[in-house]
Amino acid sequence: MTNNLEDNKCSFCGKSRNDVNILVSGIEGNICENCIEQAHGIVIEESKFSSDNELVQPLNLKTPREIKNFLDEYIIGQDQAKKILAVAVYNHYKRILNEKNSKNEVEIDKSNVILVGETGTGKTLLAKTIARLLNVPFAIVDATVLTEAGYVGEDVESILTRLLQSADYNVELAEKGIVFIDEMDKIARKSDNPSITRDVSGEGVQQALLKILEGTVVNVPPQGGRKHPDQKFVEVNTKDILFIAGGAFSGIEKHIADRLKKHVIGYKNEEPKHIENLLDEVNATDLKNFGIIPELIGRLPIITYLKPLDKEAMKAILTQPKNALIKQYEKLFELDGKTLTVTEETLNNIVEQANELGLGARGLRSVSEDVFTELMYTIDELPDEVTI
Ligand code: ADP
Repeated sequence: MTNNLEDNKCSFCGKSRNDVNILVSGIEGNICENCIEQAHGIVIEESKFSSDNELVQPLNLKTPREIKNFLDEYIIGQDQAKKILAVAVYNHYKRILNEKNSKNEVEIDKSNVILVGETGTGKTLLAKTIARLLNVPFAIVDATVLTEAGYVGEDVESILTRLLQSADYNVELAEKGIVFIDEMDKIARKSDNPSITRDVSGEGVQQALLKILEGTVVNVPPQGGRKHPDQKFVEVNTKDILFIAGGAFSGIEKHIADRLKKHVIGYKNEEPKHIENLLDEVNATDLKNFGIIPELIGRLPIITYLKPLDKEAMKAILTQPKNALIKQYEKLFELDGKTLTVTEETLNNIVEQANELGLGARGLRSVSEDVFTELMYTIDELPDEVTI
């Protein structure tokens, strides 16, 4: 009799079956729908707490120097960009922690970054490696596919859809992630007079990006695109998302040179600066002259550059980083019980051919694939020691 009565009650709040809609039975007792909801809330709160901790932990441990050392393991050269990024990322997350731990103190501005450098010099790799180090969600978006709302192409909000997906739809985590916006130079304003025609892929997109970079609450379609008109929006606050924009900005050297000329009037004997050295002078004025709207530059206050890779750097990329291409091929051979030795001559040849492609270090992969695929095709017939 007593047993029967208890069977009809929620073991947590004591309500009887008649007072609730759902009563789920377990081995030792029952639980009603209200208590399930409350328990669910507790689970969400707790997981929020632990995900915050995940974020705090690595940040407390990594100083800018440690961030740079980690980057050195994967990326050859680009010391200036590494240092600037390391400090920017460190300050960014310090700012988030500061906000959480104290009230009414000095508010630290967000420090989004813009990386100027030729294709294949390591811009994406830098951003990706930092995200990996910090264990935060990371998304890469191509600025050229973005358009103003209402036009064919992806809405700017799709950037945040990617980030949400990379965070497994955990909004809190996504709100502390890193977004890399590639090909930023391709949305530069084409003409100096934007009012004549609507510049769908240029200034309009820059204006739309501005909103997101400023730090605001955005309604994000979780599945992206307009193909799912019924989907419910998810609110994402972009205040603490770190944006890193990258682009080749080819031709920006001219703007830099023009600006510098103005400043060196009177120094007639000054040697004209070599193009490569010009890039380290890049600043906000040059980006503005290139066609990026001043408001957007204001939201990307940290500007740095990546050097074009010389042959020596290309060779180092083949062999030195933790997951260098040659190390990967050696591993593949090792799995077949063979030892692969790559000679200096082969390395030089790969670098030469890759340079001809003009894709920076990106060319190394396709040239290496050509060289090693041929060899691997006959792997079972090769001797234990293979030298190429
Ligand atoms: P981009 O500057 O166009 O964003 P990526 O970072 O995507 O170039 O580089 C393309 C590929 O080239 C990377 O995956 C990486 O393997 C290689 N790479 C480019 N630059 C470097 C570098 N400085 N050090 C090591 N690898 C590099």
